[in-house]
Parts: sequence; structure tokens; C-alpha cells
Amino acid sequence: MREFGYQRALDVPGAVALLGSDPDARVLGGGTNLVDLMKTGVERPGLLIDVRELPLDRIEVTDDGGLRIGATVTNSDLAADPEVRRRYPALAEAVLAGASGQLRNMATVGGNLLQRTRCGYFADLSKPCNKRDPGSGCPAVGGEHHNHAILGATEHCVAVHPSDMGVALAAFDAVISYETAAGTGELPLADFYLSVGSTPHLETALPSGALITGITLPPAPVAAHSRYRKVRERASYAFAIGSIAAALDVQDGVVREVRLAFGAVASRPWRAREAERALTSGPATAEAFAAAADAELAAAQTLPDNGYKVTLMRNLVVALLTELTEEATR
Ligand SMILES: Cc1cc2nc3c(=O)[nH]c(=O)nc-3n(C[C@H](O)[C@H](O)[C@H](O)COP(=O)(O)OP(=O)(O)OC[C@H]3O[C@@H](n4cnc5c(N)ncnc54)[C@H](O)[C@@H]3O)c2cc1C
Ligand code: SF4
Repeated sequence: MREFGYQRALDVPGAVALLGSDPDARVLGGGTNLVDLMKTGVERPGLLIDVRELPLDRIEVTDDGGLRIGATVTNSDLAADPEVRRRYPALAEAVLAGASGQLRNMATVGGNLLQRTRCGYFADLSKPCNKRDPGSGCPAVGGEHHNHAILGATEHCVAVHPSDMGVALAAFDAVISYETAAGTGELPLADFYLSVGSTPHLETALPSGALITGITLPPAPVAAHSRYRKVRERASYAFAIGSIAAALDVQDGVVREVRLAFGAVASRPWRAREAERALTSGPATAEAFAAAADAELAAAQTLPDNGYKVTLMRNLVVALLTELTEEATR
């Protein structure tokens, strides 16, 4: 690891000023991803700005009945919060499905949004990688890609976004707040992550020098009837190979409202809007759930070793929506 500076920020303007003062400065949340990447040399910041003492560690109910979550709230505190569990249970379940207890105690909401891909080539400096070293190539396309993307990827990069939390946030239309030296700003999660295109190294629409200050979840009564389901290669302590956040409002066998987002299938948490459109106002049956999944997955472009994800996601959609329907009619 090369030498770097360290400074603890005590207020948001101070953190933003420090961040703007040095193009090599980076925000340190829990450090559970950034420090790992510094050890391997993938990340080489000149200055770390520790934001853990900032007053951004609260979860509050907003006037309209949504939630405002500070950027330094830990994953553990987020998952344990009674209002999160009551209003957005899929979010609590998603966070608890990630990492380990010790990691969740350290990891923060801001850091979780900006954690980097777990593609093995990205972390291996001896290999080319367009995301780490633009223009160098993507060895995953012809190599190890069984965990990689089936939606929205290009030949320039087929890596997936690893966050479980982000999948639930996508289902519930989260809005990311940030601050730069020029002022404050907001980005809906749908616009926060950039499409891969030919520039996979450009991952988010955050302006340079931006400190994420929090996330707002708009009110969504349907979210109270939500679940997160994650499939992984071993029972715990592993990233998803496919996951889904689903919320469902069924009345008299008809889908009144549905929210669906997929994880581990794209470079971003994937809101399944085609499937939602196909389901809304239709019957809440296994056949309709399967057809909706097919509508969403029609855009899938698979490689030799990741085609299984199409079946996996279809089965997840049917299983989770069937469970939510049964709960609604009990
Ligand atoms: C062994 C292991 C297993 C894991 N398993 C899972 C899993 O199954 N599912 C899952 O979702 N995650 C998993 N994780 C990832 C873990 O959730 C992330 O490492 C964590 O969420 C990152 O949060 P952090 O606060 O530690 O971020 P850091 O490591 O501190 O930062 C990550 C990035 O975010 C930036 N950043 C942090 N805070 C801010 C801010 N407020 N404003 C602007 N930029 C900021 C940093 O500069 C850095 O670029 C795992 C991690 C490990 C090590
Ligand atoms: S899939 Fe993306 S992250 Fe992985 S090697 Fe290719 S360019 Fe790099």
C-alpha cells in the first residue's frame, strides 16, 4: 500500500472542502471495500477523509411518510431500524443478506452504494480490465463470467453491481442526496448508476468532489408487503448470483401495485419495469408471474456460462410473488 494522508471530518462543509481540495482525496466510510482495494493497489488515494463522525447517522420519518437515511448509518443500524423493518421490510432483509455481522457493523450506506464490482479481473492488477484501466480490454467476456451480467452489459464490460441494499432501494425509488463545493444536489437511483456503454470506468452520475449525504425513500404503502430473496453459491457470506426485491398489493386476485428489482444481473440494481407493466391490473397467478418475468428477461444477452441466470431469475420472480400473494390472501 502506498503512503496516504488521513483526516477526520467533523462537519459536512469541512468534508466537502477537503474533498474539493485534492483530486486524489477519497471518502472513507467503513473502509470495508476501499481499504481492501488499497491493499491490492486497485485504489490509490492520496488522502482519506473519514466521514464516520459526521452528523449523518440518523434515520428519520419524513413529513410525507417516507424515510430519510443518513449516509453514515451503518448497515447493521439500517437493518435493525423499526421503521425500516415496518415500512420497507425488503430493505432490511436485503441488508441482512449481505456480508457478515462484523462487516455490517462497519459498512455505511454511502459506501454500500459506491462499492466496486467483485469481478475477479477488476481486482487483479496482472490482468487487463476496461473498468480499472480504460481501453485495456475485458477478459471476462471470453473467460470467467458465470457470475456476470445478462442485462444491459456490453462487450466492454459484463460485471455486475454487488450491492444487495441497492436492489431494494431500486424497487422503492430511492433518491440519493449529495453535496459538493457548489451546493447540494439529488439523483434518483434510476439515474445514479450510468449505463456501461463503452465507458465502464464511469460508474455513477455523481459530480466530482461529491459527498453522499443521504438517501430518501418516498412513501410507498406497497413496500410494507415486500421481501428480498438472494441466491448465492454458499449459504452465507457470499455475494448474490441472482436476487430479487419484490413488493405486491393484491386485491381479489388482481395485482393493484407491484415493485420488482433484480440484483446480480447488471452493472446496476435493475428495476424490472417491463415485468411491473405486464403484471399491473392483471391476475396474480403463477402463469402471469412467469410471463412477466419473461417480458423483462427478453432483453437478456447471455454468454456461454451465465445463461442459467435467465431461468434463475424467472424462478425467483414466480416464487417470491407467489409467496407475497399467499400472504395477502391469508
Ligand atoms: C467479505 C465481504 C463480503 C461482502 N458481502 C456482501 C454482500 O453479500 N452483499 C453486499 O451488498 N455487500 C457485501 N459486501 C460489501 C460491503 O457491503 C461493502 O464493502 C460496504 O457496503 C461498503 O461500505 P463502506 O462504508 O465500508 O465503504 P468504503 O469501503 O468506506 O467505501 C466504498 C466507496 O464508497 C465511497 N464512499 C463511502 N462513503 C461515501 C460518501 N458518504 N460519499 C461519497 N463517497 C463515499 C468511498 O470513497 C469508496 O469509493 C461484502 C464485503 C466484504 C469485505
Ligand atoms: S467485466 Fe468489467 S470489471 Fe470485469 S474484467 Fe471486464 S471490464 Fe473489467
